[in-house]
Amino acid sequence: METSKRQFLKGCGALIAGISVYTVTKSPLAENANTDASQTEVKYAMVHDENACIGCNACVEACRETNHVPDGVTRVKIERTGPFGNYPNQSYRFNRVSCQHCEAAPCVRVCPTGAAYIDKDTGIVAVNSDRCVGCQYCIAACPYQVRFINPETRTADKCDFCQQTQLSKGLQPACVLACPTQALTFGNLKDPDSALVKLLKTKPTYRAKVDLGTRPKLFHIQTIDGEVML
Ligand code: SF4
Ligand code: SF4
Ligand code: SF4
Repeated sequence: METSKRQFLKGCGALIAGISVYTVTKSPLAENANTDASQTEVKYAMVHDENACIGCNACVEACRETNHVPDGVTRVKIERTGPFGNYPNQSYRFNRVSCQHCEAAPCVRVCPTGAAYIDKDTGIVAVNSDRCVGCQYCIAACPYQVRFINPETRTADKCDFCQQTQLSKGLQPACVLACPTQALTFGNLKDPDSALVKLLKTKPTYRAKVDLGTRPKLFHIQTIDGEVML
């Protein structure tokens, strides 16, 4: 898209973002895009084990470094709650907050340009920044509040499982590689031999806000201590 046109659309987006997100119902899509991830051959997902997580934030820093995420915004957060129990037997709960790579993604449904899309080869919910006009419809529609406008690109941004920076090189996402306690497991939900599927078969997990019908693909192994807040 020409620069002047993009700037114009971004200006319009800023103006109309406050009016309504419900008037847009259909997205023009690129060739590699889907609006529903249920038909993809590979379906990437992640498990965060709250029992193994020590809240060190190495994953957050690795993500920032690898994906060139500017200060002031982040693609992943580790939220701490607690302490639980009485001193000296206290513990904390650490919860990963990032894109859930929803199979029925509200952000994709509302995007007027097709910039927010589900990659048909991987099931990853991604952003095509060339198509993004910065209208923020997707940010308003995401029930997990994990999208943001990147202050440098002025386009929507969020976790993409390091699709461009790591997966394209055959590497695991940066957060997974950086985690010192192996609290993060990434893999293909459609591969029964993957570590991810084996883990899901052996440990009970929960997902956030499943009642909304978004079919999130970020699973959590509940901490033994503490409370689960969905
Ligand atoms: S968590 Fe939000 S940004 Fe991620 S796929 Fe779901 S609706 Fe979209
Ligand atoms: S990705 Fe979000 S900010 Fe960008 S055009 Fe689509 S709805 Fe608007
Ligand atoms: S790097 Fe691992 S242990 Fe550290 S906060 Fe992230 S998930 Fe938790």
